[in-house]
This record gives sequence, structure tokens and C-alpha cells, in this order.
Amino acid sequence: MTPGSPLTALKAPVLAGIRRLNALDTVRARIAMAVELGLLKPGERLPPTDEIARSLGVGEITARRALVSLCDEGVLERRRGRTGGTLVAHRPVTGRVLEIEAYRSAADEVHRLIDERLLLECGIAHLAASNAGPRQLEELEALVAQMDRVSSWAEFHTCDERFHTAIAAATGLPSAVGQYGPALRELYRYYLPYPLDYLRESNGEHAELVAALAGRDPLKAVDVTRRHVQTLHQTMFVGLIGPQPPAGVPLAGAPSPPGGPSPSPDAAASALASSECR
Ligand SMILES: [Zn+2]
Repeated sequence: MTPGSPLTALKAPVLAGIRRLNALDTVRARIAMAVELGLLKPGERLPPTDEIARSLGVGEITARRALVSLCDEGVLERRRGRTGGTLVAHRPVTGRVLEIEAYRSAADEVHRLIDERLLLECGIAHLAASNAGPRQLEELEALVAQMDRVSSWAEFHTCDERFHTAIAAATGLPSAVGQYGPALRELYRYYLPYPLDYLRESNGEHAELVAALAGRDPLKAVDVTRRHVQTLHQTMFVGLIGPQPPAGVPLAGAPSPPGGPSPSPDAAASALASSECR
């Protein structure tokens, strides 16, 4: 089958998962899905375009085009003036952004990536508790303080990536960063914008982890890391939309899944609230 053939067109993103989505469509899907799940609330103002671009790993022009197209479709709206900017529409249109389906169809892949991150990150936390030096601990503390101060989910997400990569570096093993970095970034492609107060709460776990590293307590470091990552099975979109994760995935304290593939925003929000922090 050659690219551009009719058969290729028939296998459009919906059927092929997010690997077929271009950068523009992934931004559209991630923001529209966060709106449909109620993670971004009607009337909420979006962060500046450059921050969105950085946090979602795309160019600024791409991010701007995505926002414009979502405005055209009634998911977002532009407002002029001092209180203006790009906001979630007051009554956002749902069901129009078909790229969301590519994300939904990748649920098994997302659960696998979470488990891969869990496996690597528990080992990393254990080693970092023995090997982290004073300057590395300082850097981690500074990142935790910065995540407490940020004003948007986009800024938080950028700091979060730096924080977890810095912990991998604190193991002192170059191969830890080499293996972990790509695994983390692969999973990040599925992250959605989250309410900032929820993210700030999850930063409490970052602080606990840094304290465990500073206290040279590998067991505590692994325990915090396990909680921080394992809960993603429930709090990433795969946990908020159902269906359930594959058999064998441990889900202690999992929230009851919302019924069907399109839960109400309230159902998603309460599932998020009742789960542990990320
Ligand atoms: Zn984190």
C-alpha cells in the first residue's frame, strides 16, 4: 500500500492510533479531550500559546493553528481585551473533533507505557536515593518550589518533565537517562491538560520523593514513586473514559469507571478527585 492511496486514506487516524496523527491533530485531540472530560472548564482561559507549545512538544505555529481550528469548531473561543485570550467556550461543542478517537483507541498502549515507566522509575528512585549529590538535591528542591508557583498546567508539565529527568540523572548512570527519557516522552504524548490545583497536589509527592532521596531512604523513595506513577492508570484519560485496564494491572483504590466511552465531565472530575495524586 503506498502513501496517499485510497486505502491509506481509509485507514485515517481514527483506525491507526495516534502515530498517524500529525502534530497539529495531536494538540487538537489533547485539548478537545480535556474539554470533553471537564479537565478544562467552560470559560477557563488557556495559557499563552508558547507555553502550550512547549508543554505539548510542538512548535508555536502548530499550537496556534490548533487553537484557531478549535475556536472555529466551537470548542474554544477568542476574547479580546484585557481579560481576553483563548478560552474554553462557555458551552463547548463536543463530538466534533474526530482525532480524539485515535487517542481512545490507544488505551492498551497507554497502560503498557505506564507500566514501563513504573518499572524503570522504581529502579531509578532506589538508585538515586544512594547516589544523589547535594547539587542534584538542590536542583530537585528548586523544581518542586517552582511547580508550587507556576500559573498554568502547561508550565507545570514542562517542570514535571525536568524533575523526573533530573531524578534519572541523579542515579549517576548515563544509561538510566538514556532508557528512561524516551519512555517518559512516549507516555507524555498522551498527557492532557489538568486542573492546576490537582497538579499542585501531585507536587506534594515530588516533595516527599526529594525528602526520601535526601534522607537516603531507598524504600521510601520507591514507595512514593510507585504511588506517583501507578495512579496514572486511573488518572490519565484511559482511566477517566474506561474501558478498564487489561487484566493483571493492579488497581488498588481505583475509582469506579464512568459508564461508557463518553462520561460526563462531572464523572471524570470525580474519578480524578477520588484517585491518588499523580
Ligand atoms: Zn511528576
